[in-house]
Amino acid sequence: MKKECAKFPESKHTDCELNPDEKIMADYFESRGLIVERLCVGKPKKIEKEGTPDFRIVGKNLVCICEVKRPDSPTGDLSESDWKYVNRLEFEQWKEEAKKQNTNLTVTCEQLELANGKIDYPDNERNTGVLEEEKAKKIKKLLEESTVGNFPLAVTIYRSDPFSWTQEELQGFVNHLIDKLSLIGAGKISPDWNVNGDFHFIYGEYRKARADGRYIHNQIFVRLAEKGLKIEVLPNSDLGVNWESIEGKGVCRKAQKQIKDQLLYRESKPEKVIRLVVIFLEQNLLFEYFSNIDKLESEINRRVLSKFPEFSAVVFCENFDPRFSRPNFLVFHTENNNVPSFPKDIFDDGFSQQFPK
Ligand SMILES: [Zn+2]
Repeated sequence: MKKECAKFPESKHTDCELNPDEKIMADYFESRGLIVERLCVGKPKKIEKEGTPDFRIVGKNLVCICEVKRPDSPTGDLSESDWKYVNRLEFEQWKEEAKKQNTNLTVTCEQLELANGKIDYPDNERNTGVLEEEKAKKIKKLLEESTVGNFPLAVTIYRSDPFSWTQEELQGFVNHLIDKLSLIGAGKISPDWNVNGDFHFIYGEYRKARADGRYIHNQIFVRLAEKGLKIEVLPNSDLGVNWESIEGKGVCRKAQKQIKDQLLYRESKPEKVIRLVVIFLEQNLLFEYFSNIDKLESEINRRVLSKFPEFSAVVFCENFDPRFSRPNFLVFHTENNNVPSFPKDIFDDGFSQQFPK
């Protein structure tokens, strides 16, 4: 790989090292016979201006600039109307359930307000990947240091709420889980938990109303492990893709700025330069949109390609583990004729999929 840094020996290049996602892309493009140059983010300010994309890629009859991104909060896209709908639906289900059991429905004022759409949409408190990781670490630590810390159990927790928890809420959940795991350790299962005999796991749910009427909601799967407690905390894929974070200033908007600056200040024939944005996701788009790939395509056209008309193509890299599998990409090409198009043969690798077909 070529490095632009060499042209600026007087600058600091601490931020020019490749992160793992960038490394994957550099290796991939090289494996496809292209020459990859790492662009320098440490060059003098009058040259760098505001933005520099990650790579300049050169091939036969092709010059392409490429920016690699990973959103901080890729999950949890419930639009305000969806959110209100889900809250109402949930309330109706409780009512139904209470009727079936011939009991009165008992709810807090907040739950009632939530069902009636009188509580504000949790916009600024929305979960982010960074917060999520911190919470996951805390949950693990508390469990490992607890009385169940040595139990040979593998516990997977799926978080299903799109907001971040307070410390008390986190502790409350951990205490609850310790009780349930202690029972399992004693060879019993809490009556509200279930055993799945076929797949050999125990399954439980944790639901708790918050002061604001919203719900903390986790699903917990427990299996036997060889030794010691293993904890995994994952966002539930039901939360969907947070398209706002993909469009937003950390991802597409930032990439747009970096690409524009490169074209404006540092490319001699900007109209000929292909512009590519690669986005790494924690979730698997093909899986989430399995039954409706057309919807995915229209979502990306609406949310990305039409909002950022200077992109030639946007590429999504699905969650994968580089130790066990190769990356496979979903490539969405723009239909905007005013920008140079990205050649289809580059991702024609037998694994990746390109749209429009
Ligand atoms: Zn550099």
